[in-house]
Amino acid sequence: ETEAFVARQPRSRALGSRAGHLAGGVTSNWQITEPQAVWISHGAGSKVYDVDGCEYADFHGGYGVSLAGHAHPAVVAAVRGRVARGTHFAQPTEDAIVVADDLADRFDQPLWRFANSGTEATMDAVHLMRAATGRDRILKVEGCYHGHHDSVEVSVLPEPDDPIGPPERPTGVPDNTGIPAAIMDLVTVVPFNDVDAVERALLEQGDEVAGMILEPIMMNAGIIHPDEGYLAELRDVLHRHGALLAFDEVKTGLTVGPGGVSRALGVTPDLVCLAKAMGGGLPTAAIGGSEAVMSLIADGRYEQVGTFNGNPLGMAAARAMLTEVLTPAAYEHLERLRDRLETGLQDVIDRHGLPWRVVTAGAKGCVSFLAEPIRDFRGFLRLDDRYGHAHWLVQHNRGVFLPPWGKVEQWLLSVQHTDEDVDRLVVNCDHLASRLVTVET
Ligand code: PMP
Repeated sequence: ETEAFVARQPRSRALGSRAGHLAGGVTSNWQITEPQAVWISHGAGSKVYDVDGCEYADFHGGYGVSLAGHAHPAVVAAVRGRVARGTHFAQPTEDAIVVADDLADRFDQPLWRFANSGTEATMDAVHLMRAATGRDRILKVEGCYHGHHDSVEVSVLPEPDDPIGPPERPTGVPDNTGIPAAIMDLVTVVPFNDVDAVERALLEQGDEVAGMILEPIMMNAGIIHPDEGYLAELRDVLHRHGALLAFDEVKTGLTVGPGGVSRALGVTPDLVCLAKAMGGGLPTAAIGGSEAVMSLIADGRYEQVGTFNGNPLGMAAARAMLTEVLTPAAYEHLERLRDRLETGLQDVIDRHGLPWRVVTAGAKGCVSFLAEPIRDFRGFLRLDDRYGHAHWLVQHNRGVFLPPWGKVEQWLLSVQHTDEDVDRLVVNCDHLASRLVTVET
């Protein structure tokens, strides 16, 4: 499969070798794929096309962004209408009002501000929790990813043999060079789906803890759903100790349903972070929250700033996304495709007797290469990543673009995907399964 991959993509290889002034030959470390980076020409509807002219049904979705698919007419019209009238003033434009009103309604949060990436949104959430409580420490879940600022680049993807401590009391570790070990004086790492561990941390360090940030459905370790009641209990225990709760819905917001996990599970946190899908493909992010917390911004005690915040192009695209693309009918379409894909893949797995499971959450989903349900990051570390990479290669060579980090990332359905796209993914998985079974017998 690796040879076939390289043989199909001579132009990608040529561009890679021309990119000597791009550090690492790509524009983000997450674009480095094995055996080589895939250089894209364009996208249309549910498809992307690489520079070698190969067509793919796009389930990568730009790491969870392309919920509208590519070049959606409503987004194109909104951006076109805006771009010719100037794209930057560092003053608000009317679209921002519509976007904030729509998000307030979807997420049940009264006050909003905008930024340009998930990293900025979660950074503001951490700062706001500290500013609102006058405390410095945050609680962070082992295996949750929230972007690349100091407080959260901690215990994200340690290798299984890292010294990461007992499961109920993980040892926090900086997850990147450039993140100082001293950050661990401000961060306590707790396991997912464990309210007792949070309670214990609060009893030990409660008067230092500003709040807790987590992905309410973990989506940087496959997909790990919260146990029933976990999120509501977390909010209660944190509030009892005078601490706040922030949901990082950068991946889940808008993709799992119209109002993210907050709405789907009926738990409203103090702060919610959005990015990825909300901009319809443009770099846009948002942070929403309660009057109590967001009033710190309103009265200037916390300065939420950024030259490009609420930039007109992003706001125009987000407005189109929220008011024209993500309609109730769009969510029905996504649910129907999700059911078709989930049933199709589970049927392949069952027919071949493989110890795998399909896990979904709205438009997001993945094949989990383990028969048992996974409840936390330690469970996730037991997955064999070789299957993830083999799956990626097999799909790629047969016209389906999945996110490259096999077991970590998920597929994303878009409003422009069709039954045919979904069926292609299922047939390819069947191909992989039959070959694996042949190899193993
Ligand atoms: N939070 C979550 C849950 C994410 O998955 C990501 C990106 N994968 C981020 C934050 C950071 O977003 P960005 O890459 O836009 O900074």
